[in-house]
Amino acid sequence: MKCYKDLNQIITLSKAKAKNGRKLSPEDLDVIHNGAVVFNNDEILWCGKTESIPQQYQDLPTHSLSGHVLTPEIVDSHTHLVFGGNRAFEYSLRLNGADYEEIARQGGGILSTMKNTLTEDFDSLLKTAVARIERISSYGVGSIEIKSGYALTYEKEKEITRLIHMLKDHFRGKLNIFNTFLAAHAVPKEFQSSQNYLEKVVIPLLEELAPEGIIDAVDIFHEVGYFSTSDTEKLLSTASKLGIPSKIHADEFNDNKGAMLACRYNSLSCDHLLKTGDDGIDMLSKSDTVATLLPGTAFFLGKPLANARKFLDAGAKVALASDYNPGSCHCDNLVLIASIAAKSLEMNITEVWAAITLNAAAALCYNQQGAVEVGLRPRFSLFKCDSVDEITYSWGRNFATTLP
Ligand SMILES: [Zn+2]
Repeated sequence: MKCYKDLNQIITLSKAKAKNGRKLSPEDLDVIHNGAVVFNNDEILWCGKTESIPQQYQDLPTHSLSGHVLTPEIVDSHTHLVFGGNRAFEYSLRLNGADYEEIARQGGGILSTMKNTLTEDFDSLLKTAVARIERISSYGVGSIEIKSGYALTYEKEKEITRLIHMLKDHFRGKLNIFNTFLAAHAVPKEFQSSQNYLEKVVIPLLEELAPEGIIDAVDIFHEVGYFSTSDTEKLLSTASKLGIPSKIHADEFNDNKGAMLACRYNSLSCDHLLKTGDDGIDMLSKSDTVATLLPGTAFFLGKPLANARKFLDAGAKVALASDYNPGSCHCDNLVLIASIAAKSLEMNITEVWAAITLNAAAALCYNQQGAVEVGLRPRFSLFKCDSVDEITYSWGRNFATTLP
């Protein structure tokens, strides 16, 4: 058992949790000033003001954290952080006005990441991923979802799913790693159709790996020119037979009815949602599927942001994630992205914090965390500052610090 006390603020999000992360008002942030929390390895035992710590906890090992703010753990629920090479040159080309074709002609685009991922050996990919995760953790993020999907061959996708599992072991006890199988990220040129690639690679590989129990969710890029609705239904029903939950990259380029598909399959989340229509938003508002918005990607590509207000007002559970990847958002700092995006997305302060803690955790099926409340898992983030307001106010400044 441990006790943290003298915290300037504890952001509990208790009321937000009681509302299941929906229709949140500023008061639902639920702040305790001069707060204390008592917990063991598994759960939070007590939370309140430092002066009210119950007698039975008075003799515990105590950490005085004056000058700090404690929040529910920050969760980055959408990253593609295992990849070879980088595409910095391509970003400059884009700034200089090059279009997609020009970039492809100069050797950029997803094919270059595929080539660099395929040629990089396991140990080197692992080492780079460890360094990336350590950097993400330094921003206060305690749980990270990682997708496979830059190799797109049977053997190398298998290797990367196992690599993500090794990352999970490597960080066990410190960080939670969530392993998402995204072999259906794009269709390699060698295959005549998405259906053909799905039947030859994605589904047989999923069936081979599922018994190892290392895949936490299956994901698919459901877009025109990538994977169709029938491809997606086929993969999601296979996953569901194997007892593996799903996520969908949905409605980024078109209103492809991806959000509705995700709700029908009880997916954990549908992500991007730049073009989702009112019918999709309505279905999300009545479903437990989390609507995950990725504003960093829209910024990076110079596209308009998703209409967050529509999802929030309808009562959908909205999360924000980084989408950290080499091509469309090379920013790994979720707190920075959320801070910059909040005003344009017209999100109130509780909606922002719930989107990177409570609702992001729900997008990974981590339902026993996301608030500082008795009975929940003791998953916290700690910041060295006087008030939670400073964190979103000071764009890009890192207040996060290690939990004692
Ligand atoms: Zn993505």
